[in-house]
Amino acid sequence: MHGLDPPLTEDDRPLIPAMLRGLRCQCPACGQARMFDGYLKVHDTCPSCSEDLSHQRADDGPAWLTMFVTLKTLLPLMVSVMFRWDPNPVLLFAVFASLLTGLSLFLLPRFKGMIVSIQWSRRMHGFEDENGRQH
Ligand SMILES: [Zn+2]
Repeated sequence: MHGLDPPLTEDDRPLIPAMLRGLRCQCPACGQARMFDGYLKVHDTCPSCSEDLSHQRADDGPAWLTMFVTLKTLLPLMVSVMFRWDPNPVLLFAVFASLLTGLSLFLLPRFKGMIVSIQWSRRMHGFEDENGRQH
């Protein structure tokens, strides 16, 4: 019965440790196993602690965050390189397209891990029914 369940506290799933595990692409609950089965597919349950991760709804959040960070860092850098050294445009494009692609591929799973961890920690979506409550 819901009325007899102990109240959920903010402390049983601390946000910062969960976010750090997510940034390392690890399970937000135990940190012992990879969160992903492949590059971006989240395991339905953690291979180590069996935490149910199927409730994640990261959607477009990781992609938006990745674009925000990569464009906010690389675009000003590209413009300053362009005005300072006036390099060959083909070289400038080749270097910054590679940097943009590489940084995006590096950040995307880390941001997805972080967002899934926030959802797990704050009991968003279906995560509210996991472990904290008995039915
Ligand atoms: Zn785990």
